[in-house]
Amino acid sequence: MSSELVIVYHRQPYEEVVENGQTVFKENKSPNGIVPTLKSFFGRVENAAWVAWKEAETPSDPGFERVIEIEDSFGKYTVSRLPLTKAQVSSFYHVTSKEAFWPILHGFKEKYNYDPVDWPTFKEVNWAFAEAAAAEAAKGAAVWVHDYNLWLVPGYLRQMRSDVKISFFHHTPFPAADMFNVLPWRGEIVDSLLSCDVVGFHIPRYAANFVSVVRSLRDVGQVPRQPVDPDFISEGSALSDRTVPREIHTEDRVVRLGTTPVGVDTDYITSVADREETDARKDEVLTAMASRRLILSVGRTDYTKGGAEQLLTFERLLERRPDLAQELKLLHISVSANRNMTAYAEIQSEIEQIAGRINGRFATFDRTPVSLISNAIPFTELVAYYRAADVAWITPLADGMNLVCKEFVAARSDGDGVLVLSEFAGAAMELSSAILTNPYSHKNMDHAIDLALDMPQEERRARMQELRRLVMKYNTEAWARDQLALLSPEDFGTEAA
Ligand code: UDP
Repeated sequence: MSSELVIVYHRQPYEEVVENGQTVFKENKSPNGIVPTLKSFFGRVENAAWVAWKEAETPSDPGFERVIEIEDSFGKYTVSRLPLTKAQVSSFYHVTSKEAFWPILHGFKEKYNYDPVDWPTFKEVNWAFAEAAAAEAAKGAAVWVHDYNLWLVPGYLRQMRSDVKISFFHHTPFPAADMFNVLPWRGEIVDSLLSCDVVGFHIPRYAANFVSVVRSLRDVGQVPRQPVDPDFISEGSALSDRTVPREIHTEDRVVRLGTTPVGVDTDYITSVADREETDARKDEVLTAMASRRLILSVGRTDYTKGGAEQLLTFERLLERRPDLAQELKLLHISVSANRNMTAYAEIQSEIEQIAGRINGRFATFDRTPVSLISNAIPFTELVAYYRAADVAWITPLADGMNLVCKEFVAARSDGDGVLVLSEFAGAAMELSSAILTNPYSHKNMDHAIDLALDMPQEERRARMQELRRLVMKYNTEAWARDQLALLSPEDFGTEAA
């Protein structure tokens, strides 16, 4: 019970590997994803802890080291590991979180699978996370819980510890009431979130949706609003009056709402982009391209990422503009996430089929229009592709934020390159200088890729300049600052952003 900040996130903050029979904790240096961003808080707050799960044979395995101390380049911190069995992980994470919650959060009712959900196990696992956080938190500490698979943790933690400050951040979209209320456990989830001091989202639209859900289920009266950041432009977001809900008043507390878009580590990405090796790799890529132009698409293989829709757009492009077939190459990096889940296996084989068909139709002996890569590329290599690309084509059907598009912009210190971005990525709110496109519309997707390929140099550079201003403004540093201000407004002197 000595940590002033407790981060509760399902994954461990390092890679645990066995080398020569010894367990070693390897720091993952890659700037990708949320783990390094969260770890950066260890450098800002003394006495911090992290709660995660670790697979165990049985929940009470006597050889299991439950609490460990770690020291790495982010600082010294305690990690409390919850021993979860394979069956518990499968039920709480792969089934309830990924088959029931994930499709609803992203607006795919037809993929929602209720039958295999074992709700008691989900509750039991969330209770265990709450207990571990309660055991680590000092009096009055801030406990920061991440993502929908831990939705019930705040409510349980509040029962155990009334003194702690609880903040919950959603890394996904948050849907409107018509969609969210499909979940039969909606009341329990909302009550848990309403026991937080802060509930955070990437963008104002998700916060507005949360308010609509709460108001559909609980009588919380008027919800005060505050002005929205002028850089947040998002059509269709109920932002016509340029305000965003600020807080919800319940009988017990005021729940502040945060809208803080997570960013990327712009300093690190710039440093990788400007390395000689990156430049050399970029030159190799361009040489291999033999004067063709590179369109780059990067994401996980997930039905939410719109990979199939994008490949079909590329196929139509080559049909519509046959002169381009020999002039373009699409590098489609679609990293397979979880091959064991039917939904992911289906989209994987659909992507492979379409890419194969395009190549069958349009390849010549020495020119293949699509290169499909399903294995993760190391970040430094990815940055070389970002630098070599003519167009970054990022068109998810739904995405909480999307960091790839921000990384592309951060890597373009040369000021060139075009970004085509789905309007359904959270990042579209800030990055309205990209060519925004609607991946549900063939016409609109066709038009957007044409615009990108035909864009005059001057316009490319002007748009990239504005994109870079915003990516630099909302970087990880800014996110960390805003998050800390939300957690402790009295200490940091800032009202909810
Ligand atoms: N990424 C990577 N190698 C790859 C593909 C992706 O390192 O081959 C990284 C990418 O740099 C980014 C992250 O994976 O940091 C994906 O984050 P994003 O928010 O775009 O999507 P998510 O997978 O979290 O939905």
